[in-house]
Amino acid sequence: MDEQERLDRARIRAYYFGDKPNADKAMRIAGVGHLSDPVEVDPYAGLSDPVDILITMMGRMPYRSAAHEVPYPLSRADLFKRLTPGAQTRMKQHAMRQLEQGDDAVAIEILVSLVCLCGASLADCLPALMQKDVYFPGILYRNAGSAVARCLVDDIELSGGYQGAKLAALAWTGTEEAVSAFRRWRAEASENEVWRVIELKTASHAAGWEITSEGERRDLFDMACFGLNEGMDAAKENDVVKLLAESDAVCPWCSGKLMTLLDLIPGSEKLGSLALETNRLRVATCMHCGCYEDLYMDISSTGDYCWYPGNRKPDDLPPRGDGDGAVAPATRFLSDRRRDAYEAADWTLGISVSQIGGFPSWVQDARYPACPTCRGTMKFVAQVDLGEFDRLAQGMFYTFSCGSCCRTATVYQQS
Ligand SMILES: [Zn+2]
Ligand SMILES: [Zn+2]
Repeated sequence: MDEQERLDRARIRAYYFGDKPNADKAMRIAGVGHLSDPVEVDPYAGLSDPVDILITMMGRMPYRSAAHEVPYPLSRADLFKRLTPGAQTRMKQHAMRQLEQGDDAVAIEILVSLVCLCGASLADCLPALMQKDVYFPGILYRNAGSAVARCLVDDIELSGGYQGAKLAALAWTGTEEAVSAFRRWRAEASENEVWRVIELKTASHAAGWEITSEGERRDLFDMACFGLNEGMDAAKENDVVKLLAESDAVCPWCSGKLMTLLDLIPGSEKLGSLALETNRLRVATCMHCGCYEDLYMDISSTGDYCWYPGNRKPDDLPPRGDGDGAVAPATRFLSDRRRDAYEAADWTLGISVSQIGGFPSWVQDARYPACPTCRGTMKFVAQVDLGEFDRLAQGMFYTFSCGSCCRTATVYQQS
């Protein structure tokens, strides 16, 4: 059997697997014989081009059953990260063909992977996306450039009302056109149009920035970003991050022990580039109550924290169960490789999303808490994906800080 024939057979099997009559027919045509017992199928047999492998991996086949497929040795995310610029272009072209054929879901999955994992710009694809009214997720419009931004501004102004997804797409362009349009629209909103101000804020928060009361753009996260490794890349004890350590302090609501979600040791050169407002940063929460309400802590310059007395207890807070919040403590190390700030922006791409700095991987809508004292939007510091530390735990804790008020906050989301 030559290579091509082997490949054809593998494809036919993969395609028809799970649909017995059609499988038998296909197998007869291919001369393979009957497929009476479930067999493992290798859809990647004979493939060596990463673009072909990714297309096969992400293809939707009607009777495909992943349970019986030989998995490819590299993950989808790893394959994307290894694409050369030429291969990225071919992947983009494939996505645009899928879009033309009406398979928007696959097209968007590919395009988002290209933006997050390869740092690609989709400027050349955006006119076609706009033609098809595809504005979500907004990250597709990251680095879209001025021409696209002007187009979106005109569109929004002509339509006379904001449309959430379009507004967020404009915010994602991050262009001066976007910032000045947001500034202008906010100034034009009358006192009775609080909803307009909220809509503008929601859209710009989705893209990770805001317009301050002085009319300036302020980013709500830091571009420096480090993943967390289990092993130490280099012998740098300053790169240690302690996670999920039980504290002696007690939560006044449920009487459980508070948890130090993360403890950043001072002195790491990498944290210097994160421009944290305090040198030592410990962010604490209650693993039970923190899942129901944003929790604030006051911190000292030495990294000690205490419960912020203004935390507001929800009326319907369920009682703490026996095993609630039981997660084993962990030690990780800041990775030597600085991560692209947007690499984990989409939490579904199959990479470890626990990280210090960078753009938050919102599982639900973006939610930056406001500091209860100065009312300013708190800046994102780090996120901890509990599932990465305990297979029984789920959900993500996002942590924030307000440097001027020496306060931290945690927000919890789960899918
Ligand atoms: Zn509690
Ligand atoms: Zn504050």
